[in-house]
Amino acid sequence: MVEKMVENLRQAFRKMLATYKWIDRQTRNIAIEKLEFMRAVLAYPDYIIDKSNPKLDYDYEDVVIEPNQFVKNIQTMIAWKTKEELGKLNTAVDFNESIFGPTVVNAYHSPYKNQINFPAAIMQPPYFDIGQPTSMNYGAIGSIIGHEISHGFDDIGGTYDKNGNINNWWTEKSKNNFKERAQCIIDQYSAIRLFPYIDQNLNGKRTAEENIADNGELWQAFMAYKQWQVKNPQGDLRLPGFGNFTQDQLFFLAHAQTHCQIDTRQFSLHIILYEKHIPGKYRVDIPNMNIPAFGKTYNCKRGVDRMYPNKNTCRVW
Ligand SMILES: [Zn+2]
Repeated sequence: MVEKMVENLRQAFRKMLATYKWIDRQTRNIAIEKLEFMRAVLAYPDYIIDKSNPKLDYDYEDVVIEPNQFVKNIQTMIAWKTKEELGKLNTAVDFNESIFGPTVVNAYHSPYKNQINFPAAIMQPPYFDIGQPTSMNYGAIGSIIGHEISHGFDDIGGTYDKNGNINNWWTEKSKNNFKERAQCIIDQYSAIRLFPYIDQNLNGKRTAEENIADNGELWQAFMAYKQWQVKNPQGDLRLPGFGNFTQDQLFFLAHAQTHCQIDTRQFSLHIILYEKHIPGKYRVDIPNMNIPAFGKTYNCKRGVDRMYPNKNTCRVW
């Protein structure tokens, strides 16, 4: 199911690329090629469940884990990992290799490999569930897939080509248009003051790549879900107890849920001052303000609801 979702998200991004007036034909064609080349690495490598393949045992042959020796075990693993990484020097790049183990609840985009990776552990609630409405899967892991795809085309990822080499494939005009749009996001986020919770503004510049991806993910995932609805006229599963919610509302609800977090004030301050992601609440609120579909889906009223109608909004992808 996730494999299929990756392809549907890829298709949504391709369709949206075709509609952007700010990107010229030359740059768009190369962007589409990069998108098609982007490798999706999912769950875990096949060899780890293949009993006839001894690779996993060989890989960990030298590792000795001792009970009740937590720090020592961590040191052992760091030493082992360093040796393994150094051993790759002057060998061919494995484009399908994941830098995360299957148990990591996270996802990433690698500009050097033009690769997006979703380990097995993120394919569980609240990100994904095989038995929940498709709307929720698109709102949650669908958005994460869209987020990682967007990274391939941001300020950093966009400087690498389809093979993962640094290469400027943008025309001057498209690059300038991109910068202008990114600046809109930077200014919008920088203007958000977290007072009275924390007397600080968000740092729109340091967090720009993530914020661009947080916005792109919502447009892509919502579009991909709308396309799923068209292809599946029999409708989506109902969520017991949520009969008053439409499927589109569940989409946004599931998206918001992936960013639920409880932090101490000190930790929030740490995120705001040093992290490349912003606190979860804002990763939900600001992209929702930027996408008209949110206000429409929740029947927000002019002059009543802060989230809608959307004024001074920004959009890159
Ligand atoms: Zn990201």
